[in-house]
Amino acid sequence: MTSLSNPIGVHALVWVGDTAPASVDLAVERTKSSGYDLLELSLHDLDHLDVPRARAALEAAGLQVACSRGLAFDADVSSDDLAVVERGATLLRESLAATVGLGGRILTGALYSALGKYPSPVTERGRQNAISVLRDLAREAGAHGLPIGLEICNRYETNVVNTTRDALRLADAIGEDNVVIHLDTYHMNIEEEDLVRPVWEARDRLGYVHIGENHRGFLGSGHLDFRAFFHALADVDFRGPITFESFSSAVVAPGLSADLAVWRDLWDDGEALAGHARRFLATQLETAATRA
Ligand code: MN
Repeated sequence: MTSLSNPIGVHALVWVGDTAPASVDLAVERTKSSGYDLLELSLHDLDHLDVPRARAALEAAGLQVACSRGLAFDADVSSDDLAVVERGATLLRESLAATVGLGGRILTGALYSALGKYPSPVTERGRQNAISVLRDLAREAGAHGLPIGLEICNRYETNVVNTTRDALRLADAIGEDNVVIHLDTYHMNIEEEDLVRPVWEARDRLGYVHIGENHRGFLGSGHLDFRAFFHALADVDFRGPITFESFSSAVVAPGLSADLAVWRDLWDDGEALAGHARRFLATQLETAATRA
């Protein structure tokens, strides 16, 4: 039986589209008032992020922080082109520095490739480039006591890691203990046979979880079997962060919204959405914990 000890998080894009100071303040305030323990900040807008100021706001609110990002086609560590790889590596180093500066507990996401639809499979050379960069990143993160997450994304958003087995193979190839697996139910719905086996396959390296509906809207309004997923998390005694992720054209992040194919409104009131999700997640965890 598991406890209810998982930090429950919410993705900042439920609140705001960028990370300028006023936006971070709003995201912190709403995350806190909606009863969450953790705010996930996407680092797609690093240029506008005031790291010390954001850290102070997060600490004042007593919130944990996780950082996430994907790379870009001109800054992609899985490219065959070493200049493109180096630009990706630079983005990752800057993102790690921001995560450390924020007091973040993890840097995760599609750190191994661009976030977008590729025209062909990753090459062996490209995969080796990603492995090499991520090994250096993991070692640097390890010196700060930080894990690096490999978020498993669907085929339309990356060609490097689509399944839990892909992620485990990549983690093994990187060969660093602080590389963890990041499951996301939205992506699992597209790529995995079910929502249970991946949890068992990843359990020794599972470090972070995204909860999203099949259409990325209100939890429970789609067809995902969250009961089975939360039972599996309880069965493997997962204690890491569980973060609600949802996107709407009501909150637009230039660039990222297009990469995520956010073309329609699934909600327009982030507070109603996040309040509902917080209650939904608490109920799922509490229910799973009642199992003998
Ligand atoms: Mn996700």
